[in-house]
Amino acid sequence: MTSDTPPLVRFAPSPTGYLHIGNARPALLNALFARARGGRFLLRLDDTDRERSTAEFAEAVAQDLAWLGIVPDLFARQSDRVAIHDAAAAQLKAIGRLYPCYETQEELERRRRRQLGRGMPPIYDRAALDLTEADRAALHAEGRTPHWRFKLEARTVEWDDLVRGKAHVDCASLSDPVLIRADGSYLYTLPSVVDDAEMGITHVIRGEDHVTNTGVQVQIFEALGQPVPVFGHHNLLTTADGEGLSKRLGHLSLRGLREAGYEPGAVRSLAVLTGSAEAVRAVASLDELAGLVDLAHISRAPAKFDPHELDGLNARLVHAMPFTEVSDRLAAQGVPPERAEAFWMAVRPNLAKVAEAGDWWRVVAGPVEPVIPDAGFIAAAAALLPSEPWDAETWKAWTGAVKAETGTKGKALFMPLRLALTGLEHGPDLAGLLPLIGRDAVLARLTA
Ligand code: GLU
Repeated sequence: MTSDTPPLVRFAPSPTGYLHIGNARPALLNALFARARGGRFLLRLDDTDRERSTAEFAEAVAQDLAWLGIVPDLFARQSDRVAIHDAAAAQLKAIGRLYPCYETQEELERRRRRQLGRGMPPIYDRAALDLTEADRAALHAEGRTPHWRFKLEARTVEWDDLVRGKAHVDCASLSDPVLIRADGSYLYTLPSVVDDAEMGITHVIRGEDHVTNTGVQVQIFEALGQPVPVFGHHNLLTTADGEGLSKRLGHLSLRGLREAGYEPGAVRSLAVLTGSAEAVRAVASLDELAGLVDLAHISRAPAKFDPHELDGLNARLVHAMPFTEVSDRLAAQGVPPERAEAFWMAVRPNLAKVAEAGDWWRVVAGPVEPVIPDAGFIAAAAALLPSEPWDAETWKAWTGAVKAETGTKGKALFMPLRLALTGLEHGPDLAGLLPLIGRDAVLARLTA
């Protein structure tokens, strides 16, 4: 890889639950990294856990990414690649870096307690390396099947982290990690390295919960004779009390947020800009967001966020949202296409979510229940209604005439008219609504 090779990054979730806003962070950081550099983005399903991975969650991952605006350039699932993982495992076994172990959980636990009791770090003691051929044959005869551990070199692994700068893991303080379970299935550690290497991943951008894995995985890349990718470990999104987010708990799942009516742009802005060098603000476009994100300036502290910030971000995006972006959704809410654009421009400043537009359309289309506290005033106003055609200036002309005739002004002038026309005390600017309601309906409401 030369420095001008366009990057190939990956987002590699396990399809064992719905993606949540905390997962959106690595997904977006990878996608934006590639976008800013003309690179490509691989979606890889880390589905080696056959029991917990489901087709439904796999499908949901792709849908939720698409909602965020991420369309992967490449797609892979680890369950299709087992032969490649097997070949790598065989290679590691052949050079003595992957060795069979027979301890049960209980045995390991007992040893751990003994080590801790003696004030020693609870590191796997590599007893299995001392087993002879005959010992192993005897264990097999007992019906024991081995799990397989990677033999770490007792050294410190160092790398230049895209986020953290100089980073290191002291592998001498780690147990040899289990790469293959006794049932023959792989843990995440080896397939991830094999796939990253085989698919030519240039940059591995993931959460800082993987820093220790990186120490181990760098050794695996090297043992397999593969180039080591560039790593970047970003801080994790946590709630204000420092609590992490769990996929299994469905905490702030992307689908939940979508169903609650949030715009993907609001979720993207919060997921990416929290804990970055940039202030959290409503950024509508992916390109603009890509220009703002610099991994080198991501904070080392946890990225604490407040889910309620989504409301403000969402409202700001909606207030600026062009009609073309919402026309389908307005149609779905029953707004007739020929009046939809004028309607959108009239109500958009009052909406926190696009889904609220339908409520205002019902106010425009009626029926509404007019509230008329002062029938005399409203009758005077009705008599002064201008004739059609109506436009954005009609409201001003009409209320000007009502003011001149009745001497009423300010709130005393506007509130009774609003109550009569909409039945509500608050709402979008009536200058925009009036021509949409139309003269006949306005007159009917005033004389109700
Ligand atoms: N499947 C792993 C996870 O969801 C991927 C981690 C990685 O990006 O290497 O945590």
